[in-house]
Amino acid sequence: MKPAPLVGRNSGRNSSTTQTTTVQVGNTTVGGTDLFIVGGPCAVESAAQLEAIANHLGPNRGNGHIQALRGGIYKPRTSPYDFQGMGQDGLSLILNVSQRHQLPFVTEVMAIDQIESLSAHADMLQVGSRNMQNFDLLKALGKVNKPVLLKRGLAATIEEFIMAAEYIASHGNPNIVLCERGIRSFDNYTRNVLDIGAVVALKQLTHLPVIVDPSHAAGRWELVASLSRAAIAAGADGLIVECHPDPDQAISDAQQTLTLEAMAELVESLKPIATAVGRRVAEPQRQLVAA
Ligand code: PEP
Ligand code: MN
Repeated sequence: MKPAPLVGRNSGRNSSTTQTTTVQVGNTTVGGTDLFIVGGPCAVESAAQLEAIANHLGPNRGNGHIQALRGGIYKPRTSPYDFQGMGQDGLSLILNVSQRHQLPFVTEVMAIDQIESLSAHADMLQVGSRNMQNFDLLKALGKVNKPVLLKRGLAATIEEFIMAAEYIASHGNPNIVLCERGIRSFDNYTRNVLDIGAVVALKQLTHLPVIVDPSHAAGRWELVASLSRAAIAAGADGLIVECHPDPDQAISDAQQTLTLEAMAELVESLKPIATAVGRRVAEPQRQLVAA
């Protein structure tokens, strides 16, 4: 392994062999005892879509099952003819719901010229799988004062993943959360293969929080709850899961998207597993304000 003095263990600012560095995302701490559960659509589609999710799962009017909202406004799509995201119009929609529901949000930044507007409003910036080795983007995110959710490349080795995080840290931003989201294989029954071993290895090799995206790993909603439980049992610090008020109508990734009811059920089902591994499903931090 190439040296990773900043994000690696047994060196740099954290020489403990077990302690995870915590990362603050809005009003939530990632990497502590409480799990960090992110839910939301693949892509921001409408105000009504986000409002329904926050009302059902958010802390203010919902049951507090998620600590942050996800939603892409810039979407990396395989085909240039597919929906590319709502862009800046989508940013206003997710920002509005996030503020009224005290629910921090994470959204993907695909290019350096999107950093300024996204970092002004988003609570966390996601680097998508296809950009994990976009080194100029990583360097630019090193200069930003917002946490970064770094997703593993489609076919990236663990060493390449860790070095991508080291790029961000070495350019000045230590607030990084790693995300295992499945890797390519020969089998196309699942969209990718969830690499649970990588979760364990990343927790041993780095002091960064590690979360799991079972949605893009599986590509099938029927597998998402069980993979989520496996991830938490393996020591993941949280999950990022696609859910939608009407999954069959989702513009992108409908097949892997959970209903809001299934999402709530999934989080409830994590409770005994979290307890067994010394973690906790977070209690809602309600600060009632007019919504
Ligand atoms: C996403 O989370 O919206 C996404 C596109 O995921 P990935 O980059 O892991 O494919
Ligand atoms: Mn998606």
